[in-house]
This record gives sequence, C-alpha cells and structure tokens, in this order.
Amino acid sequence: MLIDIVPVGDVTGRVKREASAALRSVYDSDVTVHERQEIPAGSHDANRDQYRAEDFIELAGRVGSGDKNIAITPRDLFYRRRNYVFGLAYLDGAGSVISTYRLQTSSDGGLATKSASDVFSDRVRKEVVHEIGHTIGLEHCDNSRCVMNFSPTVREVDVKEENLCGSCQRQVL
Ligand SMILES: [Zn+2]
Ligand SMILES: [Zn+2]
Repeated sequence: MLIDIVPVGDVTGRVKREASAALRSVYDSDVTVHERQEIPAGSHDANRDQYRAEDFIELAGRVGSGDKNIAITPRDLFYRRRNYVFGLAYLDGAGSVISTYRLQTSSDGGLATKSASDVFSDRVRKEVVHEIGHTIGLEHCDNSRCVMNFSPTVREVDVKEENLCGSCQRQVL
C-alpha cells in the first residue's frame, strides 16, 4: 500500500516526518509527501470561522497519488453538527484528513514526563494512523488503548497508543 500525505496550508516539517514515520511503522506501507496545497476555495464557513472537513478529504483524494491519501492541515475543521473534528475519513475511502489545530491543546492527562512538543507529535501520529485505519475499513474500537478508539478530546487521544489492538490488526493486516 502507498499512502500519500497531502499538506494543505503551512504544515511543519516535523508534523510531516512524524506522520510518515507512524504510518510506515503501523501499516508497513510506503509513504510519500505531496507538494503543499492551498486551502480549498469555499471550505471556510464564515459564521463558524472553521473549515469543512469534507472539502479537505475531497482534495486529498483528488490530488493524492497514493492508494490512500491523507490531508494534514493547521486549519480548524468541523463536520456537520460536531463543534470540531481532529480528523475525518470515510470507511474504505481513498481520502482522509487530520487537523493539527486542536491537537496543541494542553491536557492534564498526567503526561508531565513528556514535553508539550512530544505530546503534540504523539497526537499527530495517532490521528493519522486512526484516519487511515478508517480508509482501510476499520470502525471505532472499544479498547481505550487502541488507536481506533473514538477520541473526541485530547485526553482520550493521550490515553490511546499509536498501534492497532490485536483485534483490529487481525481485521486488516
Ligand atoms: Zn474515527
Ligand atoms: Zn482496536
């Protein structure tokens, strides 16, 4: 499997490196980093001052050169009635997206041993692995340590690991 990372807007080198390392390690896939893309025209909702996640998925699927493609953006995303999303993907789709915007939020999850930038990197790694998991057919998993656990806040992201649990692994690997 080839996964193409599509940076949309200004994405740091570290975010791109962490994302590609995590995808390589969990899925044993080839990973490429696409050239930077502009924010999709019309994706901004002026009332919410947020961006429609679906438009970024569509962009990743359209320009990405992988079997699976994941947009990474610093912009704040929303989806339907949800106040925000860290990421979004359709089951078995070719495109997906994560936003780093809210992954910077501090958490009191007992992670004092790690620097804020390491915590942020871990979250980026988990979120890309999670969304690509959906694109290869995985749904949410009840195991709170599994990367496919639904994590609406950073606290839950921090609790889970970047790997698939045994049960999720058996479904896809
Ligand atoms: Zn999910
Ligand atoms: Zn699982």
